Parts: sequence; structure tokens; C-alpha cells
Amino acid sequence: MTQRRIAVFGATGSIGVNTLDVINQLGGQDAFTVSAVTGNRNVERLAQQAIDHNAEMAVTADEQQYAALKTALSGSGVRPAAGASGLIEAAVMNNDLVMAAIVGTAGLKPALAAARAGADIALANKECLVSAGPLFLSAVHEGGGRLLPVDSEHSAIFQVLEQNQRRALERVIITASGGPFRTKTLEEMRHVDAATARAHPNWSMGLKISIDSASMFNKALEMIEALHLFSLRPDQVEVIVHPQSIIHSMVGYADGSVLAQLGCPDMRSAIGYALAYPHRPPLNVERLDFAKLARLDFESPDEQRFPALKLARIVMERGGLQGAILNAAKEIALEAFIEGRCGFLEMADITGQVMENMRGAPSACGIEDIYAADEEARRQAAGLIRA
Ligand code: NAD
Ligand code: MG
Repeated sequence: MTQRRIAVFGATGSIGVNTLDVINQLGGQDAFTVSAVTGNRNVERLAQQAIDHNAEMAVTADEQQYAALKTALSGSGVRPAAGASGLIEAAVMNNDLVMAAIVGTAGLKPALAAARAGADIALANKECLVSAGPLFLSAVHEGGGRLLPVDSEHSAIFQVLEQNQRRALERVIITASGGPFRTKTLEEMRHVDAATARAHPNWSMGLKISIDSASMFNKALEMIEALHLFSLRPDQVEVIVHPQSIIHSMVGYADGSVLAQLGCPDMRSAIGYALAYPHRPPLNVERLDFAKLARLDFESPDEQRFPALKLARIVMERGGLQGAILNAAKEIALEAFIEGRCGFLEMADITGQVMENMRGAPSACGIEDIYAADEEARRQAAGLIRA
């Protein structure tokens, strides 16, 4: 593999830490030059990562943290930067590859800038496609880089689509673990708190995506992500609950065949595939032991208990700004749930209500339209929570 220049956005988070581990596994500085690492408030970790990986620049998104970052980096030769302009600077540092692993809509602008600058984008931040699908895809097209999915389901689909004819694709079948509340009743789900919701049975992830997995909002985002990523019709996107999370997703073809990608639930596999693409490098991750597994289970998702799935269908049918609206309203409801100001099931009620209220929003989908819809959806969601 020739040496490539990579910037890691969201380096201090769950995907970011795994990405730096994969960079080491793939040969460290022999394989990659790390141009920049970015984080938010955890400047100690960010500075350490920058120093360990010999990065040229470290960026904290939080301008208040600039002084602390500068101190932590003093004498290291790593350049500190902060705020939105620092993030954009890191996005356009002549990178071959950018890991987009900031959480939430905050990741959109840097990822768009990196895509326009022509870097290959390893995309963990699914919110980019949910809020700004067509805009994001055209930025990638404009820049001429590749879009490499990191979300495990989309990586699975990407991997089994590779060797096959795109024309023969009939449907994608996205697997869902069902999260910690798969077997809970609606009444029980009404009273769960953030501590129980964040305990995912199979995957170790950041706080927000863990809770989104419990409500299946994560799966809702992934349905919309798949729609854009693989240019599908809404009826080609299926979801099946598979509690063991061994099959990461599947593609069904016109001849009735279904191809699946399997592995232990470890994000480093999908990250490794994106970072080394089109190669398949050796990775030190756990191997599947089929005799130990013994069985794989499947069940239909329950849209009554997990209404986020219904909301995803509405977004896919309506298009326009509804994805941005769903994502923004959901982020506000999620924060309120984490802080104990909103019930678990109310997150979908509030999101659905805001989507309905804003149904007549203009259909232009430029960046300013997206941000305006995002802001208005947040305002309305906050109003409903207070009410
Ligand atoms: P995380 O919370 O662990 O990390 C988020 C990163 O974003 C951190 O580096 C944090 O400092 C940074 N960040 C937070 N707020 C920011 C802001 N306002 N501006 C700039 N940076 C900010 O999250 P994660 O689990 O690593 O997830 C990152 C993204 O990857 C999300 O979009 C998530 O949906 C997606 N994803 C994660 C997983 C997983 O296994 N963790 C799997 C698939 C997709
Ligand atoms: Mg996923």
C-alpha cells in the first residue's frame, strides 16, 4: 500500500479511537501520514493522539479549549487550532482520505469541505447523508473522491455489492440488533432512563448512538443513509431484527440469491475496509466461531414499539428537507432524554410532530435551506419538550 495522508475528524470518540488503532494495525506511519486529528472538549486525549501519531495539526471544535490545547501541545511541534475555521482547515489539508466521525450535524460542514477538496471520505457520520443526502453526494462527485461507508451495515452492503452487478440488485436487508429493549413491552419502555438505554447488548459505541440504537432511531437513520448511498427506492430498503449482530447486512439479487457479510461486532472491521480499500488487509479482530455461535435468529421489527422506523419510511417517501428535520428534532429530543427532561417514547412523538408541522417547508435543499430547516426543527422540538 502506498503511504496516504489522512485526517481523522472526531478522533477522540469511539470511532476515532478505533480508527487510530486501525491505522496502527495497518502499519502506522509507514502506511499513513496523519495530517490532523480533531475533537471537541477532551483536549488532553486529543493532544496525546496528535503527539502519538505525529499529526501536523490538532483541532478542538470548542474555541474555549484553544488555550488548553495549546498548552498540552507545547514543545511537540503539533500546531493547535480551534473552532469552525480550524475544522475546515483540517478538511482541506491535501488529504487522500478523511475519516468523518464527528457525531451529529456538527460533522456536516467539515465533511462537505473535505469531499469538495477531493479526498476519499470514510463516512461514519451518517447524519451527513440523512440531512443532506443529495448535496453531500454531489460534493463527493464534484471533488472526485470515493465515498467509503464505515457504518457496519453499509460497509457490509458495500462489500457484497462490490463483486456483483449493481443492475441485479433487488433489495438491501439491513440488520438491527433490536437493542436493549427488543423484548420490552411498550408500557415498560415508557419508563426507561438513559442509563438503561445506553447499555447496548453487542456493540460498544458513543452515548448518543447507543441510545439511538435502543429507540431504533439509529436504524431509521441507517435506512435513509442506505437510500442515498446506494441510490435505492424506498421499497428496496428492508430491516430485519437479528439479535446476535453477526450478519452486518445483506443484499438480495434479481435471481433470488442473498449475499451477506458476517463478522464479530467490532467497528474496526468496517473501519479497516474503508481505510485500506480496495485492499483487504489482515486485522487483529476476533474471528467467528460458528460452532460456538450455533444459531442466528431473525424477527420482524415492531414499528409500534419502535415508531422511529415509521418516521424513516415517511422521510424516504417525502424526501426534500424531511431528513434534516427528522435528524435535528431527534437530536434535541435525545439531549432532553439524556438530561431526564423527556420520556423515551416521547422522542419519536416529538420528532414525528415536528416533521408533520414542517411538512410544507420549501423543497430547495441547498446548504442554507438545510441549516434553516435544521434550526427551525430544533426550535420546534425544544418548544414541544417545554410544553
Ligand atoms: P462519540 O460521541 O464517541 O464521538 C464523537 C466525536 O465527535 C468526538 O471526537 C467528539 O469530540 C466530537 N464532537 C462532538 N461534538 C462535536 C462538535 N459539536 N463539533 C465537533 N466535534 C464534535 O461518537 P461515535 O460513537 O464515535 O460516533 C461518531 C459518528 O459515527 C456518529 O455519527 C455515529 O452515528 C457514527 N457511527 C458510530 C458507530 C460506533 O460504533 N460508535 C457506528 C456507526 C456509525
Ligand atoms: Mg450501524
